[in-house]
Amino acid sequence: MTQKLFNEKVTSKDELINQLNIIYAQVPAFECRKGCTDCCGIIGWSEAEDINIRAYLSAHGIPYRRGTSIHCPYSSNGNCEIYPVRPIVCRLFGVVEGALDCPHVKVEKKLPPEEARRLRKAIVDLEVKP
Ligand code: SF4
Ligand code: SF4
Repeated sequence: MTQKLFNEKVTSKDELINQLNIIYAQVPAFECRKGCTDCCGIIGWSEAEDINIRAYLSAHGIPYRRGTSIHCPYSSNGNCEIYPVRPIVCRLFGVVEGALDCPHVKVEKKLPPEEARRLRKAIVDLEVKP
């Protein structure tokens, strides 16, 4: 049985962000090639990730944007404006067994698909409970 390393219910925004980072840390380390946004398109993120992204945007004076085209609203001149808080869908690209490879960066050990699903579900389930 897979060990559960996170709590689904948290009581504060800081704790939620902490739990998100615990989940993100379980994705194989991957650093995108500088200046590359080749795989960036329309993406979605969970409520917990939205809180994390909004906190980052607010701290960095970046406006909140909604995607209106086939481009991610945070892909700008070949850079990701929210790279430190990019959602799990971006983090999993190129690191899951049997899924698409990144054409530029390879990881030594990929995640089994069921593990990737577990992490995605953990993030969707994560919420602040008053
Ligand atoms: S995952 Fe690969 S293709 Fe996608 S932005 Fe990063 S370096 Fe570019
Ligand atoms: S959040 Fe960043 S990494 Fe993800 S699609 Fe947008 S620009 Fe690309």
